[in-house]
Amino acid sequence: MSSVAPNGRSGLEMDAEHMRRLGHAVVDRVVDRWLTLGEAPAWEGGTRRELETLLAEGAPEEPRDAEAVLTRAYEEILPKAGRIDHPRFFAFIPSSPTWPSVLGEFLATGFNIFQGTWLESAGPSQLELVVMDWFRSWLELPESGGGVLTSGGSAANLVGLVTAREWAGNPPEPVIYLSDQGHSSLERAARIMGVPSERVRRIPTDDAFRMDLAALRDAIAGDREDGLHPLAVCGNAGATNTGATDALDAMAAIAREESLWFHVDAAYGGFAILTQEGKEAFRGIQEADSITLDPHKWFFQPYETGCLMVRDTRVLEGAFRIMPEYLQDAALGEEQVNFADRGIQLTRGFRALKIWMSVQMLGLLAFREAIQESMDLARRAEAHIRASRELELLGPATLGIVCFRFNPPERRINPVDLEALNQSIQDEIVGSGLAMMSSTRLRGAFSLRLAIMNYRSTWEDVSTTLQAVQAAGTRLLGGERP
Ligand SMILES: *Cc1c(COP(=O)(O)O)cnc(C)c1O
Repeated sequence: MSSVAPNGRSGLEMDAEHMRRLGHAVVDRVVDRWLTLGEAPAWEGGTRRELETLLAEGAPEEPRDAEAVLTRAYEEILPKAGRIDHPRFFAFIPSSPTWPSVLGEFLATGFNIFQGTWLESAGPSQLELVVMDWFRSWLELPESGGGVLTSGGSAANLVGLVTAREWAGNPPEPVIYLSDQGHSSLERAARIMGVPSERVRRIPTDDAFRMDLAALRDAIAGDREDGLHPLAVCGNAGATNTGATDALDAMAAIAREESLWFHVDAAYGGFAILTQEGKEAFRGIQEADSITLDPHKWFFQPYETGCLMVRDTRVLEGAFRIMPEYLQDAALGEEQVNFADRGIQLTRGFRALKIWMSVQMLGLLAFREAIQESMDLARRAEAHIRASRELELLGPATLGIVCFRFNPPERRINPVDLEALNQSIQDEIVGSGLAMMSSTRLRGAFSLRLAIMNYRSTWEDVSTTLQAVQAAGTRLLGGERP
């Protein structure tokens, strides 16, 4: 019953041979999974009741056989989830980490890096500065710019908006502007900051789902008249629904004129800046005061890897730095950076290593090409949809996303039936395991949606999925080809 092993070591230790054996077995498992990923269902799940039956139990007081524990993880837990990196996982925003990034994650954990302060992580902190400077230069932010790696885009949006508030001198009754396509995490960030939903303005968008800037100007003027304090304008660089990007240069100009903070949510789309096409779409992003990026989306990193970039790191640090007595040893002057001063976390993992290792081992060109390839596949999907009689395009291919539905025109299906039909098509495809898809609503219309962002996805993966939509729709409509 003692927690001390016979040789006097803690019961929390394992002997070296056992450590190696378990570690090698885990690596083999992960590589095997990668090799067979496309053959597995793109999604598996289960009900609460089913999973409870499988997994609910108290914590064992005594150790169990390690191999048996791993087997349970492999068989009962890990497979019952979306395979987000499956080549036909097109739902939400997919993620497909590179192998060097997975190893970087493991190394950072294995070396137990604490990256809150320079004192405790000089090399890793310098590496985060290096990676932040890569991002800064890709976004063409000025030399004063920099950033911080976060748990994700939600945390980055929160850090960005809190920075805006501190920069503005913490005014009473601040107002935040985003489009009707703005991400829910911005609204949550506002709530966390104590900005109630009545002061989060959802500005309407045009036909291309870009913020209506005349409406933005009107809203700002109206709020000033009402004695409120317009604080920040949030632009989209890749809206999650449709991939839409706002007119960032014009938005930046309005923000400057109005002395507002200009935040750009480029969580999923931002790394498209590594392509010529993305660079053109994001014209004006370099004028932003802060930019959210999610390397765990289109930069092929494991969860959780988000990032907030700012135009002036002093403003970011001014918003977050607090130096309590018990950290006095960690105050190392201006030159060394304590990353805890740039956001929410004191204890932070070493997130920069996986990014750095991926780019070093694979080269940036491979990232540029993978992102371009995703955009090309989405465009090819759009062409297929346009050419088909039964499929109707609802949102053109934009930054890897394409929105459509099954709607043979001669059947004149009413909106309610159309929604039910498309929902059933999606359920059928997801249920079959062929592909994972998610739906959205565009101006009220139920839409199927493909988000093509995986470096493993091929045209065959995309076209097989589109054909499955057509086949399922035809079958559900009653057998005969419409
Ligand atoms: C995913 C996403 C977020 C939220 O990021 P998380 O990493 O999920 O917290 C915010 N904005 C946009 C545009 C996104 O695509």
